Amino acid sequence: MRFLLPKDEGELSIGIMGGTFDPIHIGHLVTAEEARRQFNLNHVVFMPTGNPPHKDRTRITDAEHRYLMTLLAVVDNPFFTVSRMEIDSQDTTYTVDTVRHFTKLYNSKLTLYFITGADAILDITTWKDYKMLLKSCAFIAASRPGYSFSKLKVILGDAFPEVIKRVHLLEIPAMAISSTFLRRRVAEGKTIRYLTPESVEQYIYKNRLYVR
Ligand code: ATP
Ligand code: MG
Repeated sequence: MRFLLPKDEGELSIGIMGGTFDPIHIGHLVTAEEARRQFNLNHVVFMPTGNPPHKDRTRITDAEHRYLMTLLAVVDNPFFTVSRMEIDSQDTTYTVDTVRHFTKLYNSKLTLYFITGADAILDITTWKDYKMLLKSCAFIAASRPGYSFSKLKVILGDAFPEVIKRVHLLEIPAMAISSTFLRRRVAEGKTIRYLTPESVEQYIYKNRLYVR
């Protein structure tokens, strides 16, 4: 176990929020907080993805930076924590492996949700062992501008009825922002103030991330 969760809580509801978090922004944080409140989660575990295989390294910021920015962003929320599980893994980790790991740790005491944006859930049938994954945990899909729930229901419901049954839709205040948008703004010398916590903003400047 590479992060701290109380051991003796009895029944636990945990949401895992996976992402590259390159960098983390308020869209991620609002999604996690709304999921926690609406689904009565005891904890949300942010799970930054590991470094991709060598050839892709240039396209994604080193995992240690992404981990530290995520930690800075969640540190003031007692219900949020960050896991090093995927970034410390020697191999590529897939969500199905991560979920299996959590399920083993807590056995039947655990209700597990995987939290994503509506865009990510549209890809789910391309994820490793997605049918197994959907058996192991339910999904919470947050609204994201550009991805309508009704379209999502039609696409997934028609083609993959087993998917839509396991996906809970979560309405959050619309935030048309992405990490790509923040990276681009930093590269262009524009401010990212209020789009991410100030500590993350300062970390980005201090380490000269995303400058061209
Ligand atoms: P990038 O532009 O680099 O893809 P991103 O903003 O999409 O970054 P990710 O780390 O790829 O961030 O996303 C992690 C998870 O957070 C995904 O499930 C994604 O759908 C969700 N997410 C990201 N931004 C938002 C947002 N503004 N509203 C709702 N969900 C979001
Ligand atoms: Mg993304």
